[in-house]
Amino acid sequence: MPQEVRGVVALKKSAPVSIETIVIPDPGPSEVVVRIETCGVCHTDLHYREGGINDEFPFLLGHEAAGRVETVGSAVTRVAVGDRVVLAWRAPCGECRACLRGRPWLCFDSRHQGSPMTLQDGTPLSPALGLGAFAEKTLVGEGACIKVDERVDPAAAGLLGCGVMAGWGAAVNTAPVRQGDTVAVLGCGGVGDAAIAGAVYAGARQVIAVDLDDRKLEWAKGFGATHTVNAGSGDVVQALRELTGGFGPDVVIDAVGRPETYKQAFEARELAGTVVLVGVPTPSMQLEMPLIDFFGHGGALKSSWYGDCLPSRDFPLLVELSLQGRLDLDGFVTERIALEDVEEAFHRMEKGEVLRSVVVF
Ligand SMILES: [Zn+2]
Ligand SMILES: [Zn+2]
Repeated sequence: MPQEVRGVVALKKSAPVSIETIVIPDPGPSEVVVRIETCGVCHTDLHYREGGINDEFPFLLGHEAAGRVETVGSAVTRVAVGDRVVLAWRAPCGECRACLRGRPWLCFDSRHQGSPMTLQDGTPLSPALGLGAFAEKTLVGEGACIKVDERVDPAAAGLLGCGVMAGWGAAVNTAPVRQGDTVAVLGCGGVGDAAIAGAVYAGARQVIAVDLDDRKLEWAKGFGATHTVNAGSGDVVQALRELTGGFGPDVVIDAVGRPETYKQAFEARELAGTVVLVGVPTPSMQLEMPLIDFFGHGGALKSSWYGDCLPSRDFPLLVELSLQGRLDLDGFVTERIALEDVEEAFHRMEKGEVLRSVVVF
């Protein structure tokens, strides 16, 4: 029997989100209905609301979620009813060109649900990143469900589904940071702080946090930053060089994604060092730089999509590190809110007041 639940929907471009009744169909053979326990508020949800992803309104928002498997389709084998799962928006298909070449973290054909969730009047919803988890229940493809240890706090574990994984993976998988490296992270929100924690885990000898906000720099220390630079108090490139014996960091991770920060990352890094862009720029942003500098500076300029993660490999690992006390996953949860508070949480996020607001059902 299809079920009716409450969910946060962006009905129209740039309009405030609203709580709507949504209809969840029974799962098809490879689909799973998940009862959502928690879902974090991410910038990408706001981008959907603003029409920055595509125009396929209405969107069922939410994609940083943990929950319990409620019902499974007839062909589902990876999870069972009652399992605690974190939802992943990358569910490698195993058959596309990237998967067949052994690079499933680049899979461009994630297997999401096929049956549409709808509004009460039958209008199909576009679930954010194929998930749509600001709802009491959601329907996802089997591959999106990653079983994790029961003992983890779902509010923290759900953040592995997007922001924390993106930042951690930018340092550990994309760069990758090596033992003894010096690392700087520009922008110390949830993604940047996860990159800091990842760099520490990978064995960096120095991890420099850069932000405009002293409060965020304090939070960054909590995730293992060894040094901090307030970007408003002088030349960031010079400050990073001074802290690294005049050379610049081996790896600079841009968790902001603006031309100004990218230039800082490009210029501050050690000769032949690595830049990782994990902050997401807007389509209108342009970068103009002398081409000779790209040649002369050498090294690697990389982008990190979802931290080049494999959810089935990385989510259980990060949960385990958290349970061992080696990753402060709980530290990313600034506040726990109700489903009705998502619009308000967008504003707090825009003002930089939180690492993550998490809806708890
Ligand atoms: Zn694939
Ligand atoms: Zn996200």
